[in-house]
Amino acid sequence: MIQTVRGTRDILPEDMPLWRRVEDVARESFRRYGYREIRTPIFEKTELFARGVGEATDIVHKEMYTFVDRARADSEGESLTLRPENTAPVVRAYIQHKIFADKSPGELTKLYYSGPMFRRERPQAGRYRQFYQIGAEVMGSSDDPAIEAEVIEMLDWFLKELKITNTTLLINSVGDPASRAAYLEKLREAIRPKLDKLCADCHHRYEANALRVFDCKVESCQPVIATLPVITDSLDEASLEHFEKFKAHLDARGVAYTVNPRMVRGLDYYTRTAFEIVGNDKLGAQNTLVGGGRYDGLSETLGGPPIKGFGFAFGLDRMVMALPDDEAERLRAADALDLFVVFLGAAARDRAFEDARKLREAGVAVAMEFEDRKMKKAMAAADKSRARFALIIGENEVASGKYGLKNLASGEQESLSLDEIIVKIATEPRSHRDKEKER
Ligand code: ATP
Ligand code: MG
Repeated sequence: MIQTVRGTRDILPEDMPLWRRVEDVARESFRRYGYREIRTPIFEKTELFARGVGEATDIVHKEMYTFVDRARADSEGESLTLRPENTAPVVRAYIQHKIFADKSPGELTKLYYSGPMFRRERPQAGRYRQFYQIGAEVMGSSDDPAIEAEVIEMLDWFLKELKITNTTLLINSVGDPASRAAYLEKLREAIRPKLDKLCADCHHRYEANALRVFDCKVESCQPVIATLPVITDSLDEASLEHFEKFKAHLDARGVAYTVNPRMVRGLDYYTRTAFEIVGNDKLGAQNTLVGGGRYDGLSETLGGPPIKGFGFAFGLDRMVMALPDDEAERLRAADALDLFVVFLGAAARDRAFEDARKLREAGVAVAMEFEDRKMKKAMAAADKSRARFALIIGENEVASGKYGLKNLASGEQESLSLDEIIVKIATEPRSHRDKEKER
């Protein structure tokens, strides 16, 4: 039997209501905060990630799905990569379509995306080779820390709306590239005598970008990492001031945070503010829900104009895992069919086809079986369908025009005309979304 590729998986119908809920709440957050959606291709030129994410990162160094596209007669095959993240592609699109061009000074471009990403990592719970991210980017001429606080405020609302509690916001500043040079020298000096205690990847990080050592997840490296000087103590004046303002903006919004001077995020392009939202106990070891930060300079790295940027991405897979059990149960129940049609006899069958169509035209979610069955079997099928109601049509019902409508949860049964049934089902909250609207 042919099965899914290692690290990939099917999201089955039972779980889709949870995924849709996370997507819907994310879209609602973006709508309220003035973001517009962008979709970029799933594969891009390898160079985009090599330059945009950085050669020293784990992502580029060892996690990318890269392949050479078939050569044509007139050219060599081109190196392409399945996107491991989507900030570099969004910034590429921003430059390519000159989205910056018709902006007035101070005007921000706020974009969001949703889709699959690909990284060749060791698969485990909460870590896949094809996973899903939703993310957003704020680009423009301003690097006001209030922009960062507004993004965090939006995420705060998003998590509350999903009933995901007990998360922790970790923040840090990684300074700007100029001031980082002196710190990196200090860091390398501190690492050098301890290199033999660090893993092979850390050796590579030490050579390519020593800051990345803080990304290491290898247990035996942690004691060494705990002794290293942190960037937060070596910040330049301007970055320090920026960080203080950012914290004040969070305080003003009543958002709690913890400063973690060893949290540097896994992408080379981050400058100044970096943040993470770490999830609750449902997540296990892979508990980072959201990661983000400032990436002033990324646009220039990709050949664009000098643009400031701030953004984040969260893993949908992990966000779905973090939903509380009772919320997940409620979402699954709200996804149920409205009505299952049970008919008895040939005349009732024809009437059932006709009435199912009328119900559907009125917005009711209807399912039925096509086989004529005994009452008991047909009712068992209705129960199994998890519909809220069973509509029972027999010979008497065809003659009188009054149907049996059975509430499958309570067992109550009423005799109603089709029009009355439509009114009843349409006015009773049908799904979670309708309940939401009524609030
Ligand atoms: P981690 O430290 O868990 O490897 P990361 O630093 O690589 O995360 P980012 O590149 O910032 O993560 O991606 C943002 C979010 O995307 C993560 O916080 C996580 O929720 C999700 N994510 C990243 N990689 C994976 C993966 N392989 N499988 C599932 N979700 C992932
Ligand atoms: Mg990672």
